[in-house]
Amino acid sequence: MGKKLNRRHFLKKATFATTAGTLGFPLLLNAKEKIQWKMVTTWPKNFPALGTGANLLAKNIEALTQGQIKIKVYGAGELVPALGVFDAVKKGTAQMGHGAAYYWKGKHEATQIFAAVPFGMNALEMNAWIHHGGGQKLWDELYSGFGLKAFPAGNTGVQMGGWFKKDINSISDYKGLKMRMPGLGGEVIRRMGATVVTLPGGEIFQSLKSGAIDATEWVGPYNDLAFGLHKAAKTYYWPGWHEPTAMLEAMINKQAFENLSPALQKAVELACQASTTHMMAEYTARNAIALQTLVKKHGVQLKKFPDSVLKLAGKTSQSVLSEIASKDPMTQKIYKSYLSFKKQLGPWDEISERGYSLARSLTS
Ligand code: CA
Repeated sequence: MGKKLNRRHFLKKATFATTAGTLGFPLLLNAKEKIQWKMVTTWPKNFPALGTGANLLAKNIEALTQGQIKIKVYGAGELVPALGVFDAVKKGTAQMGHGAAYYWKGKHEATQIFAAVPFGMNALEMNAWIHHGGGQKLWDELYSGFGLKAFPAGNTGVQMGGWFKKDINSISDYKGLKMRMPGLGGEVIRRMGATVVTLPGGEIFQSLKSGAIDATEWVGPYNDLAFGLHKAAKTYYWPGWHEPTAMLEAMINKQAFENLSPALQKAVELACQASTTHMMAEYTARNAIALQTLVKKHGVQLKKFPDSVLKLAGKTSQSVLSEIASKDPMTQKIYKSYLSFKKQLGPWDEISERGYSLARSLTS
């Protein structure tokens, strides 16, 4: 049977044909056999916002494809370990993964730029870079080398500085401090004297409680409360300079993605975009409530990092990034794009988001 005949046959069956046709998608949506995918994640199963975000992504893809793509979501350790997601999707053990790109710095340093850059862009700006500043194209270039395709799929917004068993009064307090911090932020505090540990979320509480680490960052009030980190340390520092955004990723085995019709590919892409909007709203709403619970109910002490620490961390971040970028052309290309976009946004941010925040703080 020729291509034309197939298409006519499908059109008869396609209940979605008219709507899909007006959107300009190929009219094949209901016509193909069911596709069953596995999604492995770096998060504990059903963990608030992160794990539930992965579940919602799977459900949205199923809804947008009218059940043609069904995705079974696996929590960290169920099919592969949390930090085994990249390899599992690359090899096709699972077709899809949900995590944060800085977990893969061992694969390529540049991955970290697609998750969080210390003192870098915030969620709004990162989104702008991805969609209107060439970020997605660069990400495609980087990941295609690994047989992967990635989309942003969630964002935590600005994070908290973390939980500390002893106060940070000056830079010297980082000497010998054992802290969990992934990505570029981890490298920054390592250069400030800390011993850095990378642990997946599920292992943080025990490590902090037992004293295996002295401090940890995780996400923010909503997620940190869920892990009970306030039961292991009482001092909670801000701001999360190391993660002014944490853009989350949906990674897809490139071959599996390319096997999809353009309509299905678009459905996957749009479901990922919806994840970002949904998750940012969830964090904004829930962090505010959880912060009150931590402070009022659990007696958590909020502290701001001293300016001297923030200044040194900022300076160190710049040298870490330039150094990493100078090591290979791909990282350099990505960092250059990131940096020039951030710079371009600066004057506008000053009189828009930042300017407004300052103005609002005068009246509240
Ligand atoms: Ca974090």
